[in-house]
Amino acid sequence: MKENNLKATLFHQSAHLSEHDLLAPSAYCSFCKSTQRTPVASLQESPEVVLLHCKKCHASSASRMPKPETLSKYYSQYYDSFDDEEDRITLDAPDRMACHIVRHAKPVLGDLAGREISILDYGGGDGAISAKIAHEFVKLGAAKVKIALIDYNKSTIETSDNRIQFFRPGDLTEISEKTVHLVVASAVLEHIPEPSEILAKLLASLTEGGIFYARTPYVTPISKIAKFINIKFDFTYPAHVHDLGARFWNNVISTLPLEGAFSISRSTPSIVETTFEQHFLRTLIAHALKLPGFVFKEAYGLVGGWEVFIRRD
Ligand SMILES: [Zn+2]
Repeated sequence: MKENNLKATLFHQSAHLSEHDLLAPSAYCSFCKSTQRTPVASLQESPEVVLLHCKKCHASSASRMPKPETLSKYYSQYYDSFDDEEDRITLDAPDRMACHIVRHAKPVLGDLAGREISILDYGGGDGAISAKIAHEFVKLGAAKVKIALIDYNKSTIETSDNRIQFFRPGDLTEISEKTVHLVVASAVLEHIPEPSEILAKLLASLTEGGIFYARTPYVTPISKIAKFINIKFDFTYPAHVHDLGARFWNNVISTLPLEGAFSISRSTPSIVETTFEQHFLRTLIAHALKLPGFVFKEAYGLVGGWEVFIRRD
């Protein structure tokens, strides 16, 4: 696994990969190593790449992964195609995202007064969201917040508050087990061809009473409807190589080789990424599609993305 492939921002461009861009097909699920997988969607033709759904852990993954050098090239082209930093950010309101995470992490973390809090932001770009989370923690009384930010993007957002400190580990080997209060892995795991070990390490880094947040796209059911009504649906392969919904996340604790006790603290359709102020129609549709997912959970699929909060007990 090459961690330098990971990216924080979302990608909207698909690319057609040729034979020499691709690794050989893998017989095994990237998350649980099961061989029981069935095709659920086509990602590209000649050479054929399909999305395979794992019957055991319910992850859906590309049947063929891009080579590490293919992804590096793809991402560097993607970044070069923008002059303006603003264009890369698809989340309209990172502050809203941060407040959302704080709201659901707080009951698990308990009283923050006078404490030193440690955040691990995996794939968090320049740290804009984790910096905002840290500000909220300081407002709640935390004495100090340390943020470990791991991302391909090496720029780090400035913070004016000296109680908030960023450091930039090269990879997860620099993070000790049971040391982190809050892990944020927002819209990143879907970009990593073999993420299972990383996901297990992120959870292992949690201290007892710590909380993990992840958000991933889940578009397989939407893509099936689009195909049925003959609308082209873009999965954004090879940027996205996994599709992870409610059933995957609700079973993730038993899927991964974890030591210690973990429990799902919240599992819902993911937060709407856009705001009514900036993208009215898109935001309205997103809310309308996600709403039944809060009630019908695993039985309803048209959510676009799923998110989970997992605590270490
Ligand atoms: Zn699996």
